[in-house]
Amino acid sequence: MVKQTIQIFARVKPPVRKHQQGIYSIDEDEKLIPSLEIILPRDLADGFVNNKRESYKFKFQRIFDQDANQETIFENIAKPVAGSVLAGYNGTIFAYGQTGSGKTFTITGGAERYSDRGIIPRTLSYIFEQLQKDSSKIYTTHISYLEIYNECGYDLLDPRHEASSLEDLPKVTILEDPDQNIHLKNLTLHQATTEEEALNLLFLGDTNRMIAETPMNQASTRSHCIFTIHLSSKEPGSATVRHAKLHLVDLAGSERVAKTGVGGHLLTEAKYINLSLHYLEQVIIALSEKHRSHIPYRNSMMTSVLRDSLGGNCMTTMIATLSLEKRNLDESISTCRFAQRVALIKNEAVLNEEIDPRLVIKRLQKEIQELKDELAMVTGEQRTEALTEAELLQLEKLITSFLEDQDPESRLEVGADMRKVHHCFHHLKKLLNDKKILENNTVSSESKDQDCQEPLKEEEYRKLRDILKQRDNEINILVNMLKKEKKKAQEALHLAGMDRREFRHSQSPPFRLGNPEEGQRMRLSSAPSQAQDFSILGKRSSLLHKKIGMREEMSLGRQEAFEIFKRDHADSVTIDDNKQILKQRFSEAKALGESINEARSKIGYRDRRGFKEGLRLLRDGDMSIMCRDGGQQHDKPPLRDSTQPRWTTKRNMEARGLQFSPAFLHSFLGSAVPAYFVFSCFYLVVQNFNIRGENPM
Ligand code: ADP
Ligand code: MG
Repeated sequence: MVKQTIQIFARVKPPVRKHQQGIYSIDEDEKLIPSLEIILPRDLADGFVNNKRESYKFKFQRIFDQDANQETIFENIAKPVAGSVLAGYNGTIFAYGQTGSGKTFTITGGAERYSDRGIIPRTLSYIFEQLQKDSSKIYTTHISYLEIYNECGYDLLDPRHEASSLEDLPKVTILEDPDQNIHLKNLTLHQATTEEEALNLLFLGDTNRMIAETPMNQASTRSHCIFTIHLSSKEPGSATVRHAKLHLVDLAGSERVAKTGVGGHLLTEAKYINLSLHYLEQVIIALSEKHRSHIPYRNSMMTSVLRDSLGGNCMTTMIATLSLEKRNLDESISTCRFAQRVALIKNEAVLNEEIDPRLVIKRLQKEIQELKDELAMVTGEQRTEALTEAELLQLEKLITSFLEDQDPESRLEVGADMRKVHHCFHHLKKLLNDKKILENNTVSSESKDQDCQEPLKEEEYRKLRDILKQRDNEINILVNMLKKEKKKAQEALHLAGMDRREFRHSQSPPFRLGNPEEGQRMRLSSAPSQAQDFSILGKRSSLLHKKIGMREEMSLGRQEAFEIFKRDHADSVTIDDNKQILKQRFSEAKALGESINEARSKIGYRDRRGFKEGLRLLRDGDMSIMCRDGGQQHDKPPLRDSTQPRWTTKRNMEARGLQFSPAFLHSFLGSAVPAYFVFSCFYLVVQNFNIRGENPM
């Protein structure tokens, strides 16, 4: 609690006409209380001032002379009050003085220059600046602007001001609760979160005030204006809220009725104004007298609204605005007298702390429920009917929010109903089990994934190893084949050398090793006496031809690859079977050939040469196997006339159910057997048949 008398300050307005020295003097000794001395000139014939006295001295907290600017006024008068409001105390600054003495200029400010800003804008600026600096509390600021005119209250921030005349607007009325707290009905509180918002509200109020003002009805001088900043602060997490109000009051002119000199309507106004100021004076006198129990606050609206500011829970400051011109001296002396009385009033400012009623209600409701539950448990009053769907849903919601609540002190409040308690346990158990199952599933699927990956790797490794082995084998086979090929080439060369030597011995013209056909042609064209030699040579060269020819047709590597292919081929068994059949047919053909030879020897062989030519043709490219066209003889057919062949075995062979053509063999062995294999087989058959078919000749 802060006990303090109302602080009084004086501000002297600069005179309209300069050089009016000697009317007042300010004594501002640092050690003494500053005082203002008003000196009355002798010639002042006005009856309102005591002519017997020459000077009047008034003491003030501080006196601001004509040259004191708005900044000085704010710093010395308003700032300390604003500071105590920020600390949680109520505060009031009111300006008192006759019309034109500078009340509005001091409280609101002049409109001409920015530096003429008065106490209200400067205080707003200061408060919001301080709120921004202090992050330890949560502040909320509200603004209200009340005008009291003819004992009626008007809300200057009412948006209907523009559209309606002052009389049509809803009046602000005073309500008093049992604790004698004053409440103002129809006065709106506007929240302002920034200085700008608060200033806009001030300008709105001032504009509305000016709209009501006409030259005929200068309400501004006859009305009281109370601009109030409502500040509440709260520490985070605390239920205690501090409320503080700062009233910035611009009172109506304090001049007396008699001096207004008006009648009719305006006189009524003046009466009202002065009545309210009169009641203000009454309140102040009552407060300044020590043992007065009754203070007539209720006599006027203004004193009711400012009840806390006057002798109550408030730190109040008064600014006496003085216009110390000759004609205004009497009013100035009255103002100073009033101030002297005000200075006697003691206020007791306390911190306006309260527990947030909403929080209190919540706490009490909780307490009631707990007590009810406790009572139900103690009395054993238990319900047996099943919980409804809605109740179950509600419980599950409660459990979910309880589980999600990060606050370690949070509780699951289900009351003393055992059905609910049991359901909560069941539900929690279910949630726990579900979670376990989910975890197991994820763990097993993870491990499965790992297990799957490992055999895959293992298999891949095995495959690669097998491929490597296979490649090694292939390389080995190829190397072996190469060696064999080399060896066989050497053998062939050796054999060819032997043949040449033998041939030289028998005086026969040499034939080229690489051309067995030529050798054979030579042999066939030789004399019958040389048949034995030719037979040996023919056999050998046929063998050689077979070897070399085969090599030409199919290299050893290919043969070996072919063998592997045959062995691995799925139809190898069929191929083998077919080979057997082929062999059997071949032996049959051979037998038939022999019987033909026998028959021929009986008939006589007339065209030996033609037969040989036929054989040669066969080697040169005619792929049909040649047999003698049994009995169909042609005299000296032209040699190598492939367009008109005289030789054909096809028909005969077909007659025997055998067609020795590559196409036949291919279809006989199966489509899976490559063509080159068919041709190779065919070649073998031709070779064998040749040799055997030739032998009897
Ligand atoms: P009131 O509100 O008391 O009737 P005003 O504040 O309207 O008086 O002041 C009347 C005139 O005097 C205004 O034009 C205002 O600008 C001027 N005035 C008042 N006080 C001062 C001051 N201290 N310095 C300069 N001009 C002032
Ligand atoms: Mg004014």
